[in-house]
Amino acid sequence: MMLMQMSKTDFSRRGGFFGAVLPLISKKGQNPIDNAESIWYTVLSDKTIFKPVRRYRQDHAAQTFGSGASFSPRRGVFWCTMDIAIFRHEKYSDFTPAPDGELLKFIRFIDGHEYIVFPGFCDVHVHLREPGFSYKETIKSGTLAAAHGGFTAVCAMPNLSPVPDSAENLAPELSAIRRDAAVSVYPYGSITVGERGDALSDMDALAPDVVAFSDDGHGVQSGEIMLAAMEKAAGLHKIIAAHCEVNSLLHGGYIHDGEYARAHGHRGISSESEWREVERDIALSERTGCALHICHISTKESTSLIREAKRRGVDVTCETAPHYLLLDEGDLFEDGRFRMNPPLRSREDREALIAGVVDGTIDMIATDHAPHSADEKSRGLSGSAFGVVGLETSFAACYTALVKTGVITLARLVELMAVSPRIRFGIPYCPDEYTAFDLSDERAVDEREFLSLGRSTPFSGRRFFGRCVLTARGGRAVYKEIT
Ligand SMILES: [Zn+2]
Repeated sequence: MMLMQMSKTDFSRRGGFFGAVLPLISKKGQNPIDNAESIWYTVLSDKTIFKPVRRYRQDHAAQTFGSGASFSPRRGVFWCTMDIAIFRHEKYSDFTPAPDGELLKFIRFIDGHEYIVFPGFCDVHVHLREPGFSYKETIKSGTLAAAHGGFTAVCAMPNLSPVPDSAENLAPELSAIRRDAAVSVYPYGSITVGERGDALSDMDALAPDVVAFSDDGHGVQSGEIMLAAMEKAAGLHKIIAAHCEVNSLLHGGYIHDGEYARAHGHRGISSESEWREVERDIALSERTGCALHICHISTKESTSLIREAKRRGVDVTCETAPHYLLLDEGDLFEDGRFRMNPPLRSREDREALIAGVVDGTIDMIATDHAPHSADEKSRGLSGSAFGVVGLETSFAACYTALVKTGVITLARLVELMAVSPRIRFGIPYCPDEYTAFDLSDERAVDEREFLSLGRSTPFSGRRFFGRCVLTARGGRAVYKEIT
């Protein structure tokens, strides 16, 4: 046992401290949880008054115990309250002291179990469907689903009605967010008017109220328009988040143009339809200096292009989604829950994406949570709507497939799901946003338990470890299973 171990008794002696203590002491080469370079302690208590007590060797120790909390994206420091230290981004070595007096009220959740606490996750790619498509999802249902998945911040894609392409058209979304959001929602503005790809949206007017610009759902077909968008975005210091897809290369496809499509007589979507536009947008980013974020990469070629661009110093980041890391065309069934865009690719592609997650080419995991009605997803691979839900399975899927198997550390997963998205998109971390998981809990995914209105998941029935038991924000539980 390294450095320190606190028992329940130790805390009890500290005057009414009821917390359960989980000493997730890490040492490389032990079990997957313990494989993290960082050292974790989780202390769940109903008391918040716990003076900053200790600091450990900063070369090794990730924990600082203290009250109050702070997050400094530049330094990559997470230091959350609840009398705990949660996580220190491994690259950085200093701590930001929490100001005294920032004591927060926390919900008591003591049921004899041990949980691990993470900074609230942040998903830069979700579809909340409101305004315009509230039969699929609403701000309320989507953010409750986010909370159920451990997320305290999400970025909402602009394929809505109206499309937020002007301040006026963004207003209904902002008011729905103010009215109903259970977690922080950062809207995207569209790149082009109506996401139609012909003329730029009113990016100047939108900039103060949007996290970034995207035409997600469609590739911006015209290189000239994308060039103009990037020049504009660079001037506004905003990111362009690109859904990369060349329409002329789609040929009516709806699953990957691979073995399964050939064997079952389906029309395939070529990998080139994605990576050609990735290649173009990287070149435009290089030319304009615009910060580029590439959405939901699914191919080995995109991964290589981004890796090379990063080596050249291009200001590019990217995301992939859990389904591209866990599934490939070998997992397909004739069922609408396997239809999403981009599609599940080949095993080689999946392995290249995992390598990208490991070596840092892929910066973050986003869900591309894209709910539809049961009817829209009931028409098989060939006729269903594109898109699957993901907020409520993301952590468990990645933890089970990547961390428990030793592919990445738990600390790296937290970086992918909570730290990097905030740093890249300038999303503030509020000190009172956290989520607690029971990592020992293994269960089959049951979409009937989802809070999302969308139920179509390719992970239905899969067994994952990691159950969210609480997500808190602003000193209140926004999801709570335990009492
Ligand atoms: Zn997209």
